[in-house]
Amino acid sequence: MIFKCVNCGGNVVYSPEKKKMFCPYCDSEDSQEIKYVKWGQLTVCPDCNGVIPVQEYTAATRCPYCDNYIVLDERVEGEFLPKQIIPFQLGKETVKQSMREKFKKKVFAPTDFLSEVRLETMEGNYVPFWFFDYDVNADYQGEGRKVRSWTSGNTEYTETSYYDVRRNLDIHFRDIPVDASIPMPDAVMDLMEPYDYKQLADFDPKYLSGFVAERYNMPAADLEKRARTKMGDDTKELMQQQLTGYGSIKEIRNAAGVLREEQNYGLLPVWKYLYRYKGQDYPFYINGQTGKIVGEVPLSAAKVWAYAGTLWICLSIIFSTVLLVSLAFSLV
Ligand SMILES: [Zn+2]
Ligand SMILES: [Zn+2]
Repeated sequence: MIFKCVNCGGNVVYSPEKKKMFCPYCDSEDSQEIKYVKWGQLTVCPDCNGVIPVQEYTAATRCPYCDNYIVLDERVEGEFLPKQIIPFQLGKETVKQSMREKFKKKVFAPTDFLSEVRLETMEGNYVPFWFFDYDVNADYQGEGRKVRSWTSGNTEYTETSYYDVRRNLDIHFRDIPVDASIPMPDAVMDLMEPYDYKQLADFDPKYLSGFVAERYNMPAADLEKRARTKMGDDTKELMQQQLTGYGSIKEIRNAAGVLREEQNYGLLPVWKYLYRYKGQDYPFYINGQTGKIVGEVPLSAAKVWAYAGTLWICLSIIFSTVLLVSLAFSLV
């Protein structure tokens, strides 16, 4: 489907700044009508009839001929219909501005790293996620001890009290996220966290207009293990927090059972900025909700030498900085 403006025929996109649909051609808001793709014509642009190069997992893309953003109907329906989405909260201009501020002092980055033309290539991606819900009952029994010692005259007394410690917890886990995208590196997505899941909204395809999106690449069953591990660790931790106040405690029983579980499919926003320098790609990822940046700065040899030439005395510091910035990092 494509969102067209009823006033001017332009492509209406979702604006993170305005939090509504917006026509960038005539400045009107919420002026869209939906033009659907003919069933089975997934790869044909509904506006210019051009054949769009669609990858296996593409759910939304930009037509390379007419530049309109297309949502691929069959990839957001049926089994691929997302239940929830965090819509982009930060628009391209806001992200460009924050990139400039964050990297102002990175003197080794090549000059055109943050140039206007380069930053224009930044693209908003919706990354597919599975969200796991669990209702868990955790049951604990142990023997707690408290020891009290005191001296009276020449005698030292020790009193040991024994307690039957029982705890029963009902724990409700909601929206434990696991990313379901093969191309998106897991380490990057882990660094992108946390998202504020209070902003999860019911899915609406309009949020995808103006961005690219993937449908999930992996079924929930393949990813559930990661969510279960997190749930198991958190359950143990929560139980542990209930067991304070004793000198020592001997565990007799510690069991947890899952009473109910559910999976929901959803999309999370990430800005991607691919910088190519001396034949190598430097991908940058920016959390589309919080602005957190994950990436690696390319080093400009010319700039390193120029800097070393003017500041000999700082040479050792410069080299340690080089080491630091060539590692992957994340900025909040
Ligand atoms: Zn318009
Ligand atoms: Zn087109």
